[in-house]
Amino acid sequence: MLSHHPPLRRAPAWPIWQDMSETLHIVGGGMAGSEAAWQAANAGVRVVIHEMRPKVETFAHRTGNLAEMVCSNSFRSDDSEQNAVGLLHWEMRAANGLIMATADAHRLPAGGALAVDRDPFSEAVTARLMAHPNISVSYEEVTELPDQGHWIIATGPLTSSALGQAIQAETGADALAFFDAIAPIVYAESVNMDVAWMQSRYDKGETEEERTAYLNCPMDKPQYEAFIDALLAADKTEFHEGETAGYFDGCLPIEVMAERGRETLRHGPMKPVGLTNAHKPEEKAYAVVQLRRDNALGTLFNIVGFQTKMKYGAQTDVFRMIPGLENASFARLGGIHRNTFINSPTLLDGNMRLKSRPNIRFAGQITGVEGYVESAAMGLLAGRMAAAELAGQPLTPPPGTTAMGALITHITGGAEAKTFQPMNVNFGLFPPVDGLRGGRRGRKDRYKAYTDRAKEEWQAWLATTD
Ligand SMILES: Cc1cc2nc3c(=O)[nH]c(=O)nc-3n(C[C@H](O)[C@H](O)[C@H](O)COP(=O)(O)OP(=O)(O)OC[C@H]3O[C@@H](n4cnc5c(N)ncnc54)[C@H](O)[C@@H]3O)c2cc1C
Repeated sequence: MLSHHPPLRRAPAWPIWQDMSETLHIVGGGMAGSEAAWQAANAGVRVVIHEMRPKVETFAHRTGNLAEMVCSNSFRSDDSEQNAVGLLHWEMRAANGLIMATADAHRLPAGGALAVDRDPFSEAVTARLMAHPNISVSYEEVTELPDQGHWIIATGPLTSSALGQAIQAETGADALAFFDAIAPIVYAESVNMDVAWMQSRYDKGETEEERTAYLNCPMDKPQYEAFIDALLAADKTEFHEGETAGYFDGCLPIEVMAERGRETLRHGPMKPVGLTNAHKPEEKAYAVVQLRRDNALGTLFNIVGFQTKMKYGAQTDVFRMIPGLENASFARLGGIHRNTFINSPTLLDGNMRLKSRPNIRFAGQITGVEGYVESAAMGLLAGRMAAAELAGQPLTPPPGTTAMGALITHITGGAEAKTFQPMNVNFGLFPPVDGLRGGRRGRKDRYKAYTDRAKEEWQAWLATTD
């Protein structure tokens, strides 16, 4: 049931027939759409937000408010020195972000995390947007991709099916996903290379880089058996009500594969064929876990075929049983969710515009970022980029050394397009700072160096946009 019913339509404060070509239309008034509207409106652009709720509901939203938090009430760590999402908070605050200012105003005690009183938060975001002289809200579902005008599509993970189909017709079926099937992503520096080695199966590839593209972790029989037992015993998450399990044909969770037979994984993603252990060439592994490079920087690797519905705590325990990953640090853990997102690395340009229809930008979770904060962050950039374009002064994207820049660089080109899955902000997306100690010991200094550099460069970028 919807508990908050805003007025169904707030008429624009300006004559709608005037200046239509200069109006920015934003589809979806969630985390991204709300922030995009705020940023563009503050830059002097007239904005119409098209929001389908409360007329059309989703299985996760409860209210008709803009910027509703659909699940947890946490914006995660607020530590801007040692945590990448905390740094993103900092950058959004520095850019006069509405989502951050409102979250700060409705903060709840939660140690180092930024927890938010969810209903007053979304009510306040709605009220501030409705009160803005440059913003109007139209409560309707948008079902087509518009040919004309300036648009931002920010319809999120639960994009309505009509619009999802229209997007798919434009992008092709392969470039729009309705589920994410996320394999865990590991920081390359945390892999024990005394155990793991680099090799592509059957040494395939034209170049040395291709022939050594994968990280391989070997298992003997007892290790494999123990791993299967742990997979079978692990706590799993259930689907939310309203989510379907239609993903099943395409990408089975590893624990489901294990349930189908103890040997299934050994003949699937963990098959040992075509690989020779560089440390013990005479020993044939019983099973091999492969990790594939996940970003152009080579700092992140995903565990191939290891999408999973195991709970997060169980995942770290089970995956650290893999030889070579005993001390693995995870940039993100695996999951399978209902999630509409596009293949941004192939579809979007560096300014978040659809290459095939540059009058349309995408923002938020639908671009392949993950999380409230990351979605709002991409809304912030899209709103500013759209406003700058309307003013005839297109923006250069922020440098990849900032949290904002690291995220936009990842989704618009840094990520591997073939295996693209939604991504949280994390330090693995940042170019390394030269001359700092690697490994766990150097981590604190390294993170501080990343965040110091990011803050300076974000301020400098903001100064160029004024
Ligand atoms: C079930 C679920 C739980 C999640 N839990 C968390 C969590 O705990 N923590 C976290 O950080 N992230 C979570 N996420 C991920 C994600 O970060 C949030 O969903 C976030 O709100 C995404 O922001 P967004 O602006 O991209 O989309 P949303 O905030 O979902 O906003 C999109 C808006 O577009 C509207 N819309 C959709 N289609 C149309 C259309 N055709 N026309 C007009 N309007 C339309 C929707 O009604 C919605 O208001 C969760 C996602 C889901 C699906």
